This record gives sequence, C-alpha cells and structure tokens, in this order.
Amino acid sequence: AAGQGLLRFITCGSVDDGKSTLLGRLLYDAGTVPEDQLAALARDSRRLHADDGDALDFALLTDGLDAEREQGITIDVAYRYFHTARRSFIVADCPGHEQYTRNMATGASNAELAVVLVDARKGLLPQTRRHTYICALLGIRRVVLAVNKMDLVGCDEAVYRGITDAYRALAQSLGIAEVACLPVIAPDGDNVGSRSSRMPWYTGASLLELLESADVTPLRAGDFRMPVQWVNRPDQSFRGYAGTICGGRVAKGDEVIVQPGVQRARIARIVTADGELDSAGDGQAVTLCLDREIDVSRGDVIADALHPAPVADQFACHLLWLGDNALLPNRTYWLKLGTRTVNARVMSIKHKVDVNSQAKLAARQLLLNEVGYCTLGLDDEVAFEAYADNRTLGGFILIDRQSNATVACGMLDFALGRSANVH
Ligand code: GDP
Repeated sequence: AAGQGLLRFITCGSVDDGKSTLLGRLLYDAGTVPEDQLAALARDSRRLHADDGDALDFALLTDGLDAEREQGITIDVAYRYFHTARRSFIVADCPGHEQYTRNMATGASNAELAVVLVDARKGLLPQTRRHTYICALLGIRRVVLAVNKMDLVGCDEAVYRGITDAYRALAQSLGIAEVACLPVIAPDGDNVGSRSSRMPWYTGASLLELLESADVTPLRAGDFRMPVQWVNRPDQSFRGYAGTICGGRVAKGDEVIVQPGVQRARIARIVTADGELDSAGDGQAVTLCLDREIDVSRGDVIADALHPAPVADQFACHLLWLGDNALLPNRTYWLKLGTRTVNARVMSIKHKVDVNSQAKLAARQLLLNEVGYCTLGLDDEVAFEAYADNRTLGGFILIDRQSNATVACGMLDFALGRSANVH
C-alpha cells in the first residue's frame, strides 16, 4: 500500500550540488521545522546574506553537522527523523566527499531508497556513477533522481531530458528497478514540497509526494530468521533469546531450528517490551522462549525449521574496501555477520570493479574505496542468505584484528561450499 510505514532513505550528491539546501527545504516544506528553529533560520540567513532580502538559506538547517565535522568530531552518518501526515521518514545524511564512501555505505545499507542529486549544469559526474553503483551494490532498488539548479539552465526541458535519459540507462545497467526523476530548484522549493509553476512541462509528483508514496515492500524472502543478540537469563525460571527478526514471521507453537546447528524446538512464548504476542514479524525486537532446553548462544540464528537458512563456510562475495591499508589476501580478519563474529580470510580477488564504467579488472589487492569480487573462507560455518535476498544475513563487515577498524563491508553472493578443513 502506498504511503504507509517508515521510509528510510539516503541522499547522495557531489559537493555543492545543493544537497544541504534540498534536505533543508524538504524539512521546511514538510512542516517539520519548529518555530524557534525557523526564527533562528531567518536571523542567520539575514546575517549571512545581507544582500538577499528575506530569502532563507535552507542549507543552514542541515549544516550544523558540517560544522561539527570540521571540528573533527566524528559523526559517521547523521540520521534525521521527520514525519508528515502520511508517513514517517529516517534520512541518512552523508557528506559528498569521496573519502566518505564508508559513511555512504553505512547509510545505504539501511536505506530502501536513495535520492541522488545532480546539478543541471553539470549533468552526471563520476561521483554520480560511483554513488549509484554503491547504492545498487548495497541493495537499494529505488532511486529518485533530483536534477537541481534548473533555474541556472533556464528551466530548459531538453537539458533535463538529456540528464534523465543518461541516468535511466546507468541505473538500468546496475539493476536498479525503479527510477523516478524530477527537476527541482532547491532554495525556492520548486517540485520539493509542491509543484513548480516555472516548469509546467513537468507534470509528475513533487519530491515530498514521491517520498510519501514510495512503495517499500521488502524485497527479501519471507522465511522466519532471527539472529540472537543475547541470551536473557535473569533467573532460573526464565530463559529467552533476544534479537530483531530479520525476515518472515514467527508464531507461538512454530517449530524452529537453531543454526548453524541442527537442534530444533518450538516457540513457547514471544515476549516484547509491550507485552507478550502470539506472533511477530520482520523488524520487531523480541525475546523468544523455547519449549525445551537447548544450547543457544549469541550469534546463532533461530530460523523456520521447515525452511532453514543455508549454512556454509566458503563464499563468493563483493567487498567494498574501506581500510587505509590495502586488502591483503590470506590475512585473517574478524567477520561480523548478523550477530556472529568469526575469523575470515579473503582467499582470492577474482576481479575488481571500476565503479565508473563497471568494467571488471584484474587485481592483486584492493585499495581504499575499491570494490572487488572475492572468495572468502571462514573458520566456522555460519547461517546466511544471499545479500540480494536478505541484507541482514547476507551483509557483513570485516574488522582488522590489530586496529579494531572496520576495513570492509561485504555482500554475500553464494556459498562455494562447506569444508571441515578451511583452516
Ligand atoms: P551541498 O554541498 O551539496 O550540500 O550544497 P549546498 O546545499 O550547500 O548548495 C551549494 C550552493 O548552491 C549554495 O550556494 C546554494 O545556495 C546553491 N544552490 C543549491 N540549490 C540551488 C538551486 O536550485 N539553484 C541555485 N541557483 N542555487 C542553488
């Protein structure tokens, strides 16, 4: 159903394309900026742009973050929550600089939709291709292309068509199923919160309308999965397994399997902060109690016994390298998948991907911000899903064991096998 549920989205663009202005204007048009902030916005806009009358500088609504970044305060991704009468939103605001690929990847991994911004005067830039590639890699299948600064190209429809045609071709080549395009003038709000009278040739929805009506039915397979976050055992009488359901539904009485092992049990109780439930589904945080005592630890996956997750210890995967030092094949890293941590080695780099052209190139190593298609070996078997089916059980990070830094995010493609002696 359109216009329902929470929408998580990310904004991408190069520096100066107008990302801050667009997001600020969107928050303003959505009616989510409180009175006191509006007063501060008017005051600061007058002070900064004395020559510009009473025009508001909407970038000021989102620029607080940049100031903090300049002071060296580490903010990976700023998440902003807002809502309109029709829907709630969480927007991951990621800076445009190339070195922030890691932040973009973090934001994109939780998002269902990306708003990609381009400057109408510049058209598609390498950064646009790069961001779109990373969005696709991280499972975003819906993009809104906002062609901004239309006033600076005379609101010319032909310029707009040229850019959107090129972008649709790019998105299609990357497997992005749904692209909506619109021409905007961010500071004036044209096609942001309401339709523009300066571009009557555009008869589609405004940005806010597109976001309110975007359909975000999850793409993942529907079998029940819950990675165990912790074992809740306050006293002898209670033992429950807490986590967030990452696929399907579960009901009292259902038979489940605790993976990667083979022990089975039935669901005795489903406990939540709001009381007990008869059933629960994707995205809900629950504590599950089983009808018999079996061995369950943090990192296990409780799954539908009839449709369990596959289990393996060797994989083909995509890796987005985020480490300052190059990826070294055969070095051991910690791999975090769901709530599980295991030792892992990249066995080989099959190829790396030129993110601008999508060409596959031979590679012996991966450098910062490079994407490679690799084979991976783990010290233990894990329950998993292909990333395309389930981002939680198919998405992982690699951590350097010396520095504790996150050096890669990865997307499982398929299992290469199960072996008892990968060590
Ligand atoms: P960001 O770096 O992508 O966040 O870009 P900003 O939002 O800071 O905008 C960069 C500059 O472009 C600022 O001076 C904005 O006022 C200006 N700008 C943004 N959108 C538009 C637009 O649609 N038309 C015009 N003329 N200027 C714009």
